[in-house]
Amino acid sequence: MADSLIKVVTAAVTLHWTAMQEIWPELKKHSVPKVRISNRMYRTAGLAHCEVHEVEFASKFFNRYKPEMLCVIVPHELIHVADYIINGEDPTDFWHGPDWRRMMLEYGLPPHATHEYYINKNEPIVRTL
Ligand SMILES: [Zn+2]
Repeated sequence: MADSLIKVVTAAVTLHWTAMQEIWPELKKHSVPKVRISNRMYRTAGLAHCEVHEVEFASKFFNRYKPEMLCVIVPHELIHVADYIINGEDPTDFWHGPDWRRMMLEYGLPPHATHEYYINKNEPIVRTL
């Protein structure tokens, strides 16, 4: 399970990153970000570790939200990495700032900063970063 999950996520990350390199050619100098799968993330579906060129995803969300994880959360986190590479660490434009939102739109996704997913009916899970 863990092995096949990281293969699936790595394939999605590679596909999205390659598509992003066509949109933003500056990214062609940068390899596909490293993928980490966490079994200990409960309230966050994905995280971007921009300074070390890594993206991390919570394994528990894939059971129930695989299409959303692969099609929305994976590119959401990769665009944080791309934004960091292209626009740098402007503290006035951090995380879900204007540059990130514009890049999400350029990639064809709504620039939503957070998504609410429910693992148990009464327990809202909000991904913030
Ligand atoms: Zn984010």
